[in-house]
Amino acid sequence: MLRSFENPFSGEMPVTVVVGAGAGDEGKGKVTDREIARLLAAGARVLSKREQGGGNAGHTIEDEEGVAFDFHQIPEGMVHPTVEGAIGNGYVDPVNTCKEMAKLQKKGVDFEGRFAIGTIVHFVLPHHIARDEKRERSKYAQGTTATGMSFVSSDKRKREGVTGIDVLEDLATAKKMAYEGLRKYGLARHPFNPKGISRRQAHELADEWAKSAEKLMPYIDDVVIRTHDRIGQGYHVVIAAAQAFLLDVDHGKKPYTSSDNNLTAGVFAAGGIPISLHEKTIAAYKIFPSKVGGGPFPTREIDPRLIELIAGKREDIDGEFGVTTGRPREVGYPDLTSLRRFILIERPNSLALTKFDKLSVLEDRYLPVCDSLDFQETPDRYTELDVAPGSARELNRCTPNYKFLRTSGKDIRGLKEYGALPEEERRIIRYFEEELYTPVEYIGTGPGRYDMIKR
Ligand code: GDP
Repeated sequence: MLRSFENPFSGEMPVTVVVGAGAGDEGKGKVTDREIARLLAAGARVLSKREQGGGNAGHTIEDEEGVAFDFHQIPEGMVHPTVEGAIGNGYVDPVNTCKEMAKLQKKGVDFEGRFAIGTIVHFVLPHHIARDEKRERSKYAQGTTATGMSFVSSDKRKREGVTGIDVLEDLATAKKMAYEGLRKYGLARHPFNPKGISRRQAHELADEWAKSAEKLMPYIDDVVIRTHDRIGQGYHVVIAAAQAFLLDVDHGKKPYTSSDNNLTAGVFAAGGIPISLHEKTIAAYKIFPSKVGGGPFPTREIDPRLIELIAGKREDIDGEFGVTTGRPREVGYPDLTSLRRFILIERPNSLALTKFDKLSVLEDRYLPVCDSLDFQETPDRYTELDVAPGSARELNRCTPNYKFLRTSGKDIRGLKEYGALPEEERRIIRYFEEELYTPVEYIGTGPGRYDMIKR
């Protein structure tokens, strides 16, 4: 019998969640890594999990020797040799997961006996990706990463598709579905669709899919029970939520969202973990927020010179270009109105303000912070809002009002002590804390794995 049954209300709250408070790419991977390192240093055993999304996002963790580990599907905590990893729920693209595992294995990450994929995950099939790619080429493009997420997740809602247990118990049928889906969804080549996928290509794609799925079979397990087993053994569970607040399927700016609930409640529901086990949520926010994939972004910068200063270059490890797609991200300034909406909905225990070192790019040494929005209710009537509206439609009718906070202009890269920060930067942190009624626990001071202040 699982030890978790013996004392279900032990009072232990061993689950930490890291969420994104913006539109993604806030540095959740790094915050998760640092939080796990802190737990390990305190003697904890850790299970690092993902419960949603698929390989559409990317985390990069660079170690002291400059080795960069890219994580798309695999939980980033696995970079620590003693940490267990699991994809409890969400969507798994077997082809890319196998490629990612092979790359990580080459860099010394071992998967044997310390990694699992849930029986309830949905597997991404070749037609999900092909349909996503096709839509992105059409006038209905949503600015997705074309990894098939919306198609696989709608299969999940329709109770169709292939789950982990389907792969484990009947790979032959799953392979057939991988093949037939390409023909069924209008992607097959025929006289009216000469650019479609040929029978041979469909077989090749289905073969590659099935070979990869087979490689993952040894890892497929009931991760819900596995998680509770580890909790019973005293493990701490750290879950990096997928995407971020503004991409939440309910609270994001539709249609520019992901297909999941990306906040703490969604993670717990997806993982089969009771909310009573929640210890804390850390919300990551980039001091220069960024966005990909269209949709409103009231505080976006439009001056190409400033964009380059803020976003950096494609070759920079911390440049604002997608890890998965290489797409340039739009960049802009912190938006308290959006953060206030986030705080109301999520109430995180703490904030991680990332890329704080980037403040030194501001030549005039003032950081614009959006403090309120002018919302155009009618052509000639405006209302001032402290909290951002919930829809893209309304947000498109808002213009930001800024406060300008002084920066020191100093290079703070690599600082590890709060006390070493210049007074101006500390004042900015206090300003966020006061405006959002939430403590700032982590401050990012550079792209490296250890460039972080913990308070
Ligand atoms: P995620 O997609 O939200 O998980 O973001 P990642 O953890 O992958 O971080 C994205 C990129 O930002 C990585 O290349 C990190 O090295 C970089 N990064 C994270 N935090 C900081 C920071 O505080 N300063 C700088 N300059 N780069 C950072």
